[in-house]
Amino acid sequence: MLAQNNTDHSKSPLNVIISVDVELWPNNWDLGHTEFNRCFNKFIHGKTISGNYGLGFQLEQLKEHNLKCVFFVESLFSGHYGIGPLQEIVAQIQEAGQEVQLHLHTEWLGQRALP
Ligand SMILES: [Zn+2]
Repeated sequence: MLAQNNTDHSKSPLNVIISVDVELWPNNWDLGHTEFNRCFNKFIHGKTISGNYGLGFQLEQLKEHNLKCVFFVESLFSGHYGIGPLQEIVAQIQEAGQEVQLHLHTEWLGQRALP
């Protein structure tokens, strides 16, 4: 049965919000700092054997195509590994003229040492 509304949507404007979650998702929550650096390079910088396809690549692509994006940055990992890597992520996004918003994975809270 054909739809009763024959509106041609191919000529309608399309409003899209592009968003990216920026987060570490380790297999082992008890990462030492060496393993954290490996994980940071993998998940944030997107390092692969054929190149880097993480945050820097994404920011370059957005600039090249004159697009805006919202980056939802997970921040609770910094309670375990320090504020430096979080500052690096936020600065890179803001320097590229993109928007930073908060993203939380409360699983990180359970990784803090008990008092
Ligand atoms: Zn997430």
